[in-house]
Amino acid sequence: MRTLFRLFDRIVTSDDQDRELEGADILVDDGVVAKLGVGLEPETCDKTVDCSGLLALPGLINAHQHLYQGAMRAIPELERSLIGDWLRGIGTDALARFERGRFGALQVRAIARAVLAESLLGGITTVADQHYFFPGSAVPAPAYVEATIEAASELGIRLTACRGSITMGRAAGGAAADSMVQAVDTVVAHCESLVEEYHDASPYSMTQIAVAPCGVHVDRPELFEELAALAFDREGVGLHTHLYERVDTDFTRERYGMSPWEFLVEHGWATERTWLAHMVDVPVEELPDIAAAGVAIAHLPAPDLRMGWGRAPMRAMLDAGVTVGMGTTGSASNDGANLLGDMRIAALVHRDEHVRPDAWPSARELVRAATRGSARCLGRPALGWIGPGSAADFAAWDLRTVDRFGVQDPVAGLLLTGLSSAASLVVVAGRTVVEDGSPVGFDPTRIATDAWSVLGVDR
Ligand SMILES: [Zn+2]
Repeated sequence: MRTLFRLFDRIVTSDDQDRELEGADILVDDGVVAKLGVGLEPETCDKTVDCSGLLALPGLINAHQHLYQGAMRAIPELERSLIGDWLRGIGTDALARFERGRFGALQVRAIARAVLAESLLGGITTVADQHYFFPGSAVPAPAYVEATIEAASELGIRLTACRGSITMGRAAGGAAADSMVQAVDTVVAHCESLVEEYHDASPYSMTQIAVAPCGVHVDRPELFEELAALAFDREGVGLHTHLYERVDTDFTRERYGMSPWEFLVEHGWATERTWLAHMVDVPVEELPDIAAAGVAIAHLPAPDLRMGWGRAPMRAMLDAGVTVGMGTTGSASNDGANLLGDMRIAALVHRDEHVRPDAWPSARELVRAATRGSARCLGRPALGWIGPGSAADFAAWDLRTVDRFGVQDPVAGLLLTGLSSAASLVVVAGRTVVEDGSPVGFDPTRIATDAWSVLGVDR
């Protein structure tokens, strides 16, 4: 199947030269971009799509998400809460649902469908989902990760399923509830079985697996070591965790006598397969070592602000040569899965009158982070850019709507204006999933209603 997407107003490629093309076309053949340029021949194509008036970007890549938290948005008691209260609150909420028989794989699959549908509508074509909720009392644990993979495959969105964990509860000196703790062996065995069953290391694969302890304050050191060994035994299995959340620095200093980054180095995680979420509290002196190790960082401005953590040092990361991607984190600590909206937050939150304006992240730097940068986080070189040989993943927004009237630079305008982040056109692996602003092949209202229903709520 060859499809020619014609006459985009502008295409931001995020390629090696950061090219932007005007009035250009994208020829897609069998899920891959075959050609990119002005005036491509439509005669040899099975289908042509008029894209005039649209600004295209590579499909956005959400480098850090917890899909299951989609059921826990805007909990009244947690609207304004610090991280400790928030973690206890959502943990209690999830456990209570689980004990009522309302938080098994069926529910997580329905929640994942809802948040993934939202993601597609917002121009996200790949999601890295870290699932770390596994009630320790449930043996065997519900097949949550498997259910999430099913949801993504049903919707046709790419997924890196990150098998999370909590292995060190308060009784063992960790910071998590003991009811959430799984044994290290259980986690490692499940990671192995997920890799065997689902991990596709090929360049254009739809599903990959990463190993992803929740964090240094809730997981045992030996888990980090065993998972690093497991990942390096297989092609393309990534390593992912939270780091430098505000809690981490004091915790590792007091328990291990080292910084959170030194802890990762000590346990074999200073690798090009590794990407880290948050990094709000990272000392800038460590950034050159992080860059030299090839470790990438997922910048999550909305949840960092929601928790009152302030902002991660994005400019210092970039200046040190660290690859920076972007993510939303879970839909409970963000209350949304709107990556373009979070790019707008990032465009504003780093502004500071004491910092020269040309050091504030630009719209183009943020686009590059949310595309090429996030792809690098996930170890997916065929994603995050548009050009011959790239995956045919792109999203486009209409520049002719009244809310974008008057915009002179479309790229800055995309981040800084608009009543909505909803995309007009979204293509994943060559398949159109949103066209003229409407979903193709899925019904978001029904998906939301079904998810409410399996959670036991009539809407
Ligand atoms: Zn997170």
